[in-house]
Amino acid sequence: MAANPLLDELRAALGDAAVLTDPDLLRVHARDEADLCAAGTPLVVVRPRSTGEVAAVVRAAGRHGVPVVPQGARTGLAGAANAVDGAVLLSTVAMDRIVEIDPVSRIAVVQPGVVNATLAGAVRKHQLWYPPDPGSWESSTIGGNVATNAGGMCCVKYGVTTEYVLGLEVVLASGEVLRTGRRTAKGVAGYDLTRLFVGSEGTLGVITEVTLALRPAPEESLTLVAVFPTTAAAGTAVAGIAERGLTPSLLELLDRTHLRAIEAYRPMGLRTDAEALLLAAVDTGARAAGDLARLAEVCEAAGADEVYAATDATEAAALLQARRLAHPAMEKFAADTFPAGNGGLVIDDVAVPRGALAALLDGVARIAAECAVPIGVVGHAGDGNMHPNIVVDRADPASVARGRRAFDEIMRLGLELGGTCTGEHGVGLLKRDWLAREIGPVGVRVHQAIRAALDPAGLFNPGKVC
Ligand SMILES: Cc1cc2nc3c(=O)[nH]c(=O)nc-3n(C[C@H](O)[C@H](O)[C@H](O)COP(=O)(O)OP(=O)(O)OC[C@H]3O[C@@H](n4cnc5c(N)ncnc54)[C@H](O)[C@@H]3O)c2cc1C
Repeated sequence: MAANPLLDELRAALGDAAVLTDPDLLRVHARDEADLCAAGTPLVVVRPRSTGEVAAVVRAAGRHGVPVVPQGARTGLAGAANAVDGAVLLSTVAMDRIVEIDPVSRIAVVQPGVVNATLAGAVRKHQLWYPPDPGSWESSTIGGNVATNAGGMCCVKYGVTTEYVLGLEVVLASGEVLRTGRRTAKGVAGYDLTRLFVGSEGTLGVITEVTLALRPAPEESLTLVAVFPTTAAAGTAVAGIAERGLTPSLLELLDRTHLRAIEAYRPMGLRTDAEALLLAAVDTGARAAGDLARLAEVCEAAGADEVYAATDATEAAALLQARRLAHPAMEKFAADTFPAGNGGLVIDDVAVPRGALAALLDGVARIAAECAVPIGVVGHAGDGNMHPNIVVDRADPASVARGRRAFDEIMRLGLELGGTCTGEHGVGLLKRDWLAREIGPVGVRVHQAIRAALDPAGLFNPGKVC
């Protein structure tokens, strides 16, 4: 390879082992988990180990006018971590230290490359809990979770990532290190810069340390399954549950396509003749049995044709595991649907007010029929946050075009119903146009002004979000 002064500077700052230019490795690192999103060819992957090394990378890239794309585990579903041509891919995977767990203040301080499940396991030893639990929790990083404001299954009761981020350390485009927020239970000093960086998808700076709030470990939960003859009836049950003032700690929906895909992927005895299944849990201690009975009543009133409680923790864990298998099972279903494994998934992410969930689910079924594409729906029903998974034949441009049309129609419907174009996966490359439609020209200008104020040369993650 021809001499490259930036690579020389990076090697001098980080050492050869942390500066990777092997073409196969670059190809692997060029994209996240989003299908059908463009990815450029990066110059290099760097793996800094400290804030100082991140600052050195950012300064060097800035001097050479080379873009920097921060990356965690690349489990993102919006193309937000995808390479742009010639970029430095700044991977945080080597910054994987849990710096501190303080059981008295109930906080954890971590480097961004710590994997969600690793943190969850570490705090459990102190009888503490870090609730945000994206489906990718065994691989995605806290830095990526913060940068996408990730949600998960227990977020219906306990809130998404931003509720737990007390403070951040961020390397800015200038190479300076900014500290935001606090480690106290309360604090209102200055603008809430922490929340500005949460969900910023690598466009405003590189998060190098995160101070997180923890909770006491939750009570043991009881789990309920309700089987519905239509997806819309399941949506009506979700609205009814909220209306009754019930607060399940989990309220997830799987439609027939997903039930069948999961059963084919790993037989678990799921009802594959059902149109939709709601999986609910309550963790209200002494009140749990009563709350579960009330949940069952609401589901029956909404038309459930079967409602049953998990007999024990093992059955509850198996049901949860079935929900967690939705993504790999649908990937396999997509691959098997078209010849030569060319089936791909366009994973959508739309959130509507809970009262509009039934209309969204009806609308998705109509869109699938109109566009002649298979669409399975799964998601965090209690948050009104659904993932319509559109199955396309990557080798057939007409199939891809129909899938894209269905994707756009779902986005349009979500906004018409008073919703948002992304409940948790973020904007990345996939939803730039839909973000602009959702927030309008003034919103776009404010986004761009904030970005330009922090990163005037457009160093970080160009082409993403706005
Ligand atoms: C099977 C599966 C299930 C999933 N389930 C969920 C779910 O339930 N809920 C949910 O919200 N998401 C889910 N996701 C999506 C994804 O896991 C999340 O978006 C996750 O937060 C991404 O973390 P990551 O470490 O992989 O980040 P990446 O994908 O590497 O990056 C995501 C974004 O964060 C930026 N970024 C990463 N690290 C930093 C940093 N240190 N500083 C600044 N910016 C940074 C990147 O530039 C990019 O914009 C799922 C994905 C898969 C594959």
